Amino acid sequence: MPASLSAAVHAGFVRTFAHPPTGLWSAPGRVNLIGEHTDYNDGFVFPFAINRSTLIGLSLRDDRLMRVASSFSAEVVEISLDEVRPENLHGWSAYPLGVAWALGQFGAELGEVRGFEIYIDSDVPIGAGLSSSAAIECAVAVALNDVWLLGFDRRALAKVGQLAENRAVGAPTGIMDQSASLLGQADAGVFLDCRSLESDVIPLGFDNAGLELLIIDTKVSHAHATGGYAARRASCEAGATALGADSLRDITMHDLPRAESLLDDETFRRVRHIVTENQRVLDTVRTLREHGPQSIGALLDASHVSMRDDFEISVAELDLAVETARAAGAIGARMTGGGFGGAAIALTPHALIPVVEAAVLAAFAAQGFTTPELFVVRAADGARRVE
Ligand code: ADP
Ligand code: MG
Repeated sequence: MPASLSAAVHAGFVRTFAHPPTGLWSAPGRVNLIGEHTDYNDGFVFPFAINRSTLIGLSLRDDRLMRVASSFSAEVVEISLDEVRPENLHGWSAYPLGVAWALGQFGAELGEVRGFEIYIDSDVPIGAGLSSSAAIECAVAVALNDVWLLGFDRRALAKVGQLAENRAVGAPTGIMDQSASLLGQADAGVFLDCRSLESDVIPLGFDNAGLELLIIDTKVSHAHATGGYAARRASCEAGATALGADSLRDITMHDLPRAESLLDDETFRRVRHIVTENQRVLDTVRTLREHGPQSIGALLDASHVSMRDDFEISVAELDLAVETARAAGAIGARMTGGGFGGAAIALTPHALIPVVEAAVLAAFAAQGFTTPELFVVRAADGARRVE
């Protein structure tokens, strides 16, 4: 984490609360390498924690008041531990304060704990699909787990973060983001089975292979809770029901001909994306183990085509980013995140990063699209106490 971020948190904390924090905790954002819309279908995902994180300074109070502040906003939001409930939480502060509430829902005895002051700063871009939301939840979750001596393990803390996001914020998200932020390791991905919640840390080997993951943030805004996301979830549920399955996780490649004969064309294509995407996640993990990262490009490309044509969640900017990056030397590229905007990723040989960046900027300018933001991310360690 950049020294400037910890200096900013120290300074922001002192400016806001007039004394220094007793500790600093950080949690990274994440990028999903492959496995899109598979989480709520009980399937597989393969994200990694990135070297962009949210950092919080914290100190305990002698009373029951929780006070949170962020570089993101001028307000200091406060609420008593005795009042904290989803219906009392609003706006950005529902993320950190929702975590305090969610810890209680998972059995933490909050009747006796002390309140706190928290100051938050972050270099995770907000709303770019890199999960600044999980980063803030997980930083607060590990910090409160430490200072309140709760003893939760990281899998439990992932569920705490998810519950805060689902109930206190009201965003119907899965557990992928929190799992990556808490379980990530340097140069490794977190292979997650969203049904059993078992996870495995898989070496990526990008560093050795001279590969970098370039993020192309199109700046096209995506809105999770609305429209397309809900419609895709509904199609997946309808497809599973029509096929007599609890979830699309139970449908395999062998079932696709039967699915095609039973389902209408659109529902079939939605189903085919999920089924083939689950297979691509498994193939990516196996390919990394057997052949290394140079061999996963075709799987990334196929994932994009499936999201573009079968799941229909791409937009012109994402397609252009992917096509241009591939033509300029990326070994594989795909849109990442929920779709309808957000970012694409391009797995690119180190030496070609400037070439790919220039090509993408030129292509966007030629189309009259908003200038995208481009940056490289590395797979980094998960949430931890840093000071
Ligand atoms: P993302 O793709 O970045 O996760 P979300 O919409 O899920 O986008 O979460 C972004 C929201 O999380 C912000 O609008 C804000 O409410 C909250 N948030 C994220 N980071 C911070 C921060 N550093 N300080 C305050 N709130 C934050
Ligand atoms: Mg989010």
